[in-house]
Amino acid sequence: MSASRRGARRRGPAWAALLTLAAATLVPGCGGSEPVPEGRSLVLITMDTTRADHLGAFGHPDSPTPTIDALAANGVRFTRAYAPMGQTLPSHATMFTGQGPRTHGALENYYVLPADAHTLAERLDDRGYETVGVIGALVLAVDSGIAQGFEVWDQPEGLWKSDQGHPPERVAAQVTDEALAWAVRRESDAPYFLWVHYYDPHGPYAPPEHFRPSISRDVVSGMVMEAAQRGDFGEAEATLDVISQTWFNYAAELEYTDQQVGRLLDGLRARGLLDDAVVAVAGDHGEGLFEHGHKGHGINLYEELMHVPLVITAPDGELGGTVVDTPVQLQDLLPTLLTATGHEFAGDGDVQGQDLWAAARAGRAPRSGSIFIERPHYSAERLDSKHNPRGQPRKHEYGLVLGIIADGHKLLKQVDGTVTLFDLVADPTERNDLAGVDPETAARLRGLLEDYEQRFRVAEPGSGESVSAERAEQLRQLGYGGDAGG
Ligand SMILES: [Zn+2]
Repeated sequence: MSASRRGARRRGPAWAALLTLAAATLVPGCGGSEPVPEGRSLVLITMDTTRADHLGAFGHPDSPTPTIDALAANGVRFTRAYAPMGQTLPSHATMFTGQGPRTHGALENYYVLPADAHTLAERLDDRGYETVGVIGALVLAVDSGIAQGFEVWDQPEGLWKSDQGHPPERVAAQVTDEALAWAVRRESDAPYFLWVHYYDPHGPYAPPEHFRPSISRDVVSGMVMEAAQRGDFGEAEATLDVISQTWFNYAAELEYTDQQVGRLLDGLRARGLLDDAVVAVAGDHGEGLFEHGHKGHGINLYEELMHVPLVITAPDGELGGTVVDTPVQLQDLLPTLLTATGHEFAGDGDVQGQDLWAAARAGRAPRSGSIFIERPHYSAERLDSKHNPRGQPRKHEYGLVLGIIADGHKLLKQVDGTVTLFDLVADPTERNDLAGVDPETAARLRGLLEDYEQRFRVAEPGSGESVSAERAEQLRQLGYGGDAGG
């Protein structure tokens, strides 16, 4: 590919050039005189709304996810990976920039990842990779800014408007079809970066009708009984039967998605495209399944929302079978995947994550620092429309909700400044608030969290620092009009 074409993409808003490229589905042939770029290819699979503990490799006793389990067995399994926010765009933007949401700026789904972000796709594009994005739902549409750096882009039809609860989406089979269609028509010899986003585990939990899940209802009901006996469901307004059915349906979606991941990898393998490719699988955030009285994501910061699966597998079996138990975060993906695909990454100041591949290669655990997590920055109106849609009294207060994970503990700070403290080792499902029992730890973590808030200041939640307006303007320019900026 020519440098001038990449330069052209940089000058204008990323989405404008991308739409053109996507429409033409260009696959640039590298000129005969250009050397083939170096590096392994990369397949990044992101599973929407996928909490770690419902995958076999992360603890489900009747695994719905044999494909991912096999990747984990042959690769590096990170048993404690954290999303920075329980929401799709902020979390994906973190994976692609190596930055927390307060730095990259996409603090809520209706915000935009700014065009000056330096994403993984752009970094690999700069190195001559063919870059391909195939997404499952329009929450990651081209106008969100997440598509910057992708030469080939494929998204569901339609437009996501602010008055729609769920974005237009497509099922995993269609996403897999589109990714494999790219593989079939591919002509380049350059290494590639293929990002495939599966939305299916997101509610409603309903796999296609023809799909017959093989997981055991009895095993799932047993898991629910255990959780109920521990008191995990708190004030949940649901019977154990309803909770069991919900858990089963959620696992069925995971099983369906995992089969499609398997079909994707089989199709790529059949064309020789996995011979020299790193394969990574990550959840963008988890899902409350009535724990702490809540179903869904985006509102609290408990483990069921923030602890995600993360697996990275190298083509030559490098580091196969490695298990990393140190807490890590999705900020780490960018430097880690650059190194795993054979690129020097010395750090460039923009990236806050650490290189987990280099650490594993050196036989050491990652640095264990503080991990900061945060609720999406809803405006008061968005909070109400999203979480009290039928005009019920406001259940969740407007404002900042933050957390810190450090030294085996998690401290959460609510809108009114009150804190709760959990021992994640002794109490992994976060039932016993220790803030009053262990005030020293609470004060220390609170101090670290408040330092972080001071260092990374942000505007009022929902004010969007004009990014919502920017998104609306982008949509307006695209001819969509209306109030889609939310
Ligand atoms: Zn998501």
